[in-house]
Amino acid sequence: MKINKITGLLLCITAILTLTNCTGNKNCESNMPPKYVFMFIGDGMSYNNVALAESYLSYKQGKLGGEQLLFTTFPQFGCATSHSADCRVTDSSASGTAISTGSKTNNAMLGVDAEGNKLRSISYDLHDMGYNVGIISSVPVNHATPSAFYANSESRYDYYSITEQLPGSGFEYFAAAGMINYYGDDDENPKDGADIMLEKQGVNVCFSIEEAEEAIKNGDMMLVCQPYNKNREASNYDAGGATPADHISLAQMLELGLKRLTDEKPFFIMCEGGEIDWAAHSQKTFPTVLSIVEFDKAISVAYEFYKAHPEETLIVVTADHGTGGASFTEDPKWESLERVWAESGYKNELNGADNRKLNEEHNIDWSTTHHTGEPVPVYAVGKGAEKFAGRMDNTEFKSKILGR
Ligand SMILES: [Zn+2]
Repeated sequence: MKINKITGLLLCITAILTLTNCTGNKNCESNMPPKYVFMFIGDGMSYNNVALAESYLSYKQGKLGGEQLLFTTFPQFGCATSHSADCRVTDSSASGTAISTGSKTNNAMLGVDAEGNKLRSISYDLHDMGYNVGIISSVPVNHATPSAFYANSESRYDYYSITEQLPGSGFEYFAAAGMINYYGDDDENPKDGADIMLEKQGVNVCFSIEEAEEAIKNGDMMLVCQPYNKNREASNYDAGGATPADHISLAQMLELGLKRLTDEKPFFIMCEGGEIDWAAHSQKTFPTVLSIVEFDKAISVAYEFYKAHPEETLIVVTADHGTGGASFTEDPKWESLERVWAESGYKNELNGADNRKLNEEHNIDWSTTHHTGEPVPVYAVGKGAEKFAGRMDNTEFKSKILGR
C-alpha cells in the first residue's frame, strides 16, 4: 500500500515536472523530430539549375517566367554553404556526410571525419528512436549520396564494401538504380554479384514493381532496383540517353517506400535526384531540366502525404552542391532546343564540343563540367519548416531535424 502511494506520488511529480518543463519552454515541442521526415537531395541542383528548369516550364506555358516547380512554392526558403573540410568546392560524399552526420569531412570520404573516425548518420539516430528508414536514389545505391546515409568508408570509391554495409543498417527500405562495382575490384577473384551478396544477407532485392509489392506484403528488408540492372553492373547513368520502358521512376520508388513504411510508425526518408548531377556534368540542358522535373514529381508524392498529415510531416529539399554552372544571359531559345530534343528521339548523344555549340546557339551557358561552390538552395514545408529559412551550413540539417 505504502509503496503504491510513493510510486503514485513519484509519477505525479514526474508528470508535473514534465508539464512544467513543456509549458515553461516553448521549444519543448519543436525539440522533438517530426513524426514523418522527408529529406530530398537534388544532386548538383544549384539554384541556377532550378532557374533553368523553371524557365523551360514557363516557356511551356507561353510565359517569359513565373512558372514554378512544386518545391519552390514551399513557404520556407534558405541557402546552405557546403564547403568540405579540405576544399571550397565539395563533392557528393563530403556534402552527404555533412548533411547526414552534421560534421565536415574531406572530399571523397564517406561517413567518417577527416581523420577517418566513424561518424553517425541521422538515419541511425532516428532508427534507434523507433523510426522506419527509407533510402532512395535514382542512381546506384552505393553511390556517394545514398551511401552517406547508411555507410562509413574512408573512400567513397570502395563501392563493394559500402554495399556490404547495407544489410547491417537494418533499414527497412532501399530503392535505387542498382549497384556499381558489381563483382568487386579484383577482376581475378570476382566476388558474388552485389545483389546475390545482399540476398544472402537477408535483403530482398526486387527488380520489378510486382516483386516489390510482394516484399512489402512480407514486411521484408528490401532494395528495389531497376529491372534492366538485374544480375549485372548498374549502367552508369547515360546523361543523354532515352529512358528504358520498364524504368521505375523516382516517384514510383517513393510510392513503394511509403507502402513499405506506412504511417503507422514514424519514418525518415532520404530521396536523392542523383541524375541531375550526371546530366549537369555533361552540360546536357534537356536531361538536366527533365531530371529536376522528375525529382519534383517525387516531391509531389511526399507533398500529398504531407497534406494528409500536415501537423506531423516535414519536407526539406536541398542540394549537396551545384554542378555545371548553368546560366542564361539572353532569352533561351526553348522552342528550337525542344525541337532538336524531339527530333533526336528524346536523347542527346552529342559529344562535348557539339553539345557546347548546341547550348551556345540556344543562349544557354555552362561554365564548367565540374561542381560549383556557391551556397545551395533550401526549401521546406511542414512541421519545423521555419528552421530552414535563411542562411545555414550543410552541417546544420541534422540538428535542425533532430531538434537538438
Ligand atoms: Zn553530388
